Amino acid sequence: MTGTVTTLSAPRAVLLASALLAACLSALGCGPSGRADVASADLIVTNALVVTMNERRDVIDGGVVVVRGSDIVAVGPASVADGFAATKTIDAGGGIVMPGLINTHTHASMTVFRGLGDDEPDRLRKLIFPLEKALIDRELVYWGGLHGMVEMVEGGVTTFVDMYYFEDEVARAAEKIGLRGVLGETILDFPAPDAPEPYGGLAYGRTFAARYRNHALITPALAPHAPYSLDEAHLRQVAAEAETLDLPVLMHVAEMADEMERFRKERNQTPVEYLESIGFLNRRVLAAHCIFVNDSDIQILKRRDVGVAHAVVANSKSAKGVSPALDMFKQGLRLGLGTDGAMSGNTLDIVGQLGYVAKIHKLNARNRNVMPAVDVVEMATRGGARALHMEDRIGSLEVGKRADLIVLDGDATAMVPRYDVYSALVYAASPKDVETTIVHGRVVMEDRKLVTVDVREVTAKMREIGRRIEAAVAKGFN
Ligand SMILES: [Zn+2]
Repeated sequence: MTGTVTTLSAPRAVLLASALLAACLSALGCGPSGRADVASADLIVTNALVVTMNERRDVIDGGVVVVRGSDIVAVGPASVADGFAATKTIDAGGGIVMPGLINTHTHASMTVFRGLGDDEPDRLRKLIFPLEKALIDRELVYWGGLHGMVEMVEGGVTTFVDMYYFEDEVARAAEKIGLRGVLGETILDFPAPDAPEPYGGLAYGRTFAARYRNHALITPALAPHAPYSLDEAHLRQVAAEAETLDLPVLMHVAEMADEMERFRKERNQTPVEYLESIGFLNRRVLAAHCIFVNDSDIQILKRRDVGVAHAVVANSKSAKGVSPALDMFKQGLRLGLGTDGAMSGNTLDIVGQLGYVAKIHKLNARNRNVMPAVDVVEMATRGGARALHMEDRIGSLEVGKRADLIVLDGDATAMVPRYDVYSALVYAASPKDVETTIVHGRVVMEDRKLVTVDVREVTAKMREIGRRIEAAVAKGFN
């Protein structure tokens, strides 16, 4: 036998045995006699290839996940289930069970505009802002948001980060469907659909945040649109209010070529340097895109513990460039994946992003070794949780974390045979392979059927909204 063998000394072995017994007592509710009573649970997922995404990246073949209330109470081999009696069991049928995916940047309600002006330049100013100004109201935000959330649940997303208007309507839709959301009211230096005054989003956001404080699923946030669409005084005010109210801050950063040009010309700074110089950057901030960040910007983001949302598909479609996400990830930044809104990336699921993340960074580096599949799955799960500073609660399947998990079909044609589960997920899986989605211990979709909303109703409503928008566009947005 080669290698190092560690032999436990007798006292250490006894200590370990009593520690294991204590763990058994607390996990299984063993009686004082040591007899293993069966503990109660609400849900057991059995017969699964459990991809835990824990620190050791344990993968358990024939594994189980046990849920009580909103939390995971056990993860392990099949025998672990013997210690529990659950009211519901889901047989994963040999499929993959993994942490729910985290979409760290989207605008769910923009599904109402999906497919408009896809191949046209400067859509933001020519199309998106005018369309939103003319058409966005509470109803569009709610139904568009709900439609986007149906797509996310169907694609295995359990937590999403959203920036939009009437964000309380997005929250109402998230509560209805049962998704976890970090939701920010957009703040801009011009009138917005829900705020007639410039910067009206700040007051709106304050009210929204007060209403959703300490909610189990919704974390309210402030969402200053971008470094160029708020003035310095208001950026400072947003940072101060976020501190006082203890809120996350969501923002598009270093995304546009003209944004870079403007900060270079006016201040001889990058947007990241500018934000740093006004004391804006800290652990509350989640910066979306970061396409045009240089090495020194990356060091600033790291030092300030800023989260980064990497939206590679949306950035490719807009032909803006490839974010140095590979460097940021290697340097240990808090990096997750995002889809952006449906006018940018068109789809809101994360499974569909995985292959692009690997392939675009390989192509960009001309090196097929970089961005291996396991790293991409990490970004989609615990990386996203870290970007949100929520890694103590979500992002991996571990005892004590929230029960946000998904089941993927073990018989999906493109995933058979399955030599490497990370490779299967990144290069072969499709969002349609997600069978079951569980958020906060609640089954939101089972066997591809949404439990909490009537999908036909949502689809019909979206078709009706689509017809209205089509007519408005034909008349020139009015
Ligand atoms: Zn965006």
